Amino acid sequence: MSTDSTTVVIIIGGGLGGLALAQLLLQNSSSIKVLVFERDKDENSREQGYCIGLDSMGLDVLTQIRVLDNLLRDESDAVYTLSFFRLVNKYLQKIIDFNAKDNKLVDREDLRQALLTNIDVQWNKRFISYKIDDDGVEAYFEDGTSVRGTILIGCDGTKSIVRTQLIPEFQRNDLRIINIGGTAEQNASLKKIQELTKQSLVRVFGKQGHTLLILPYRQSWIWALSWPEKETHEETNITSLTIIEKARQYFNNDEIIRLIESSSPSTCIGPYRLYSAACLRQNPFPNNSRVTLLGDAAHPMTTHAGKGANTAFADAFDLANLILNPSSSTLSEYEQKMFKRGFTAVQMSLFSTNMIHSIGWRASFRNCIFFIMRYTRVLINLISIPFRFYKKKPD
Ligand SMILES: Cc1cc2nc3c(=O)[nH]c(=O)nc-3n(C[C@H](O)[C@H](O)[C@H](O)COP(=O)(O)OP(=O)(O)OC[C@H]3O[C@@H](n4cnc5c(N)ncnc54)[C@H](O)[C@@H]3O)c2cc1C
Repeated sequence: MSTDSTTVVIIIGGGLGGLALAQLLLQNSSSIKVLVFERDKDENSREQGYCIGLDSMGLDVLTQIRVLDNLLRDESDAVYTLSFFRLVNKYLQKIIDFNAKDNKLVDREDLRQALLTNIDVQWNKRFISYKIDDDGVEAYFEDGTSVRGTILIGCDGTKSIVRTQLIPEFQRNDLRIINIGGTAEQNASLKKIQELTKQSLVRVFGKQGHTLLILPYRQSWIWALSWPEKETHEETNITSLTIIEKARQYFNNDEIIRLIESSSPSTCIGPYRLYSAACLRQNPFPNNSRVTLLGDAAHPMTTHAGKGANTAFADAFDLANLILNPSSSTLSEYEQKMFKRGFTAVQMSLFSTNMIHSIGWRASFRNCIFFIMRYTRVLINLISIPFRFYKKKPD
């Protein structure tokens, strides 16, 4: 691949990954032409969700995107710093805390809006296929139009059409887990929830693999309830009442029931089923010099390790570097790196999903491990007290 005044990068999908790639290319080169095609009718035609957890991998990339400077500065009200990931039982008693100091929550809508700055997205353009020839690639759209470019990047998310053509045998697995999310105004009378969610993301383990995530955001609590499916396509019969009934049956905790009851049905996202790529050991990307993938299109994963967007940003960074400095590496080197990072994240996410939804002896085993971890920490802290005291003493 050569970069000269004629390099045209076609980006399919104006989601977080595609827009991050477009920004990184445009801010670092005036000679590359970047065309972004998005199936949505306009930027407001689809709910983007509430907020997104960024780890150091994602933040390292986003802090290099100039149009995000304002959004990511410490005083910005779109960004919220976390202190802990907290695991609790259905009585809202702490099981164990993990440090989350390097993580931030960012308003998803604000992030997407900022990433759209100066990008001339072509809306209402549903990609259907591509064709490669000797000197380029042609992208075809549902409206009968087509466009020609040097390279085409599939950033079209978890059900990627680009991937279907590039790697027809690639499959997503249905994990038979149902997820629904909502928001409720923060309420001082839910004392335990208020205390636990102070700068923390809280995962509550209920019965029979039911689990609830609660996080504070601005004046609200955002929650996501998920569980292993019992009947086929259970998600088609879920109402607000079913969710409240689930809170009663599987958590049986007054504060949790009131949290769910106080959520407005209009703020609910889902219910939807969870899918994931299998944990591939071999790189499935065909080393095609004209077409590649990025983000969820390349490595669809569950949300439970908070890695999807973060890996998409890291992919965007590596791919932008390759397109901007083509002599330093090849597309296959990008794909190898992206494969390793992406499928490590797929594996972590699947592990996390299975662990939090486990039932029976697996759930007991999980709880035992957390118990041991918690008390090992206490023991280490106790043992280290005299050493700390000794260190602090002046000479
Ligand atoms: C509830 C929830 C919470 C999450 N929380 C986190 C989190 O805390 N941390 C984290 O890192 N990740 C999180 N994720 C995952 C994260 O949202 C995704 O991994 C990330 O958005 C992937 O970015 P992407 O650009 O690859 O895909 P997307 O953001 O899905 O963008 C794909 C875009 O392509 C467009 N498109 C699709 N098909 C076509 C087509 N045929 N033609 C043209 N355009 C098309 C879509 O409309 C969309 O705009 C969460 C996901 C969910 C659902």
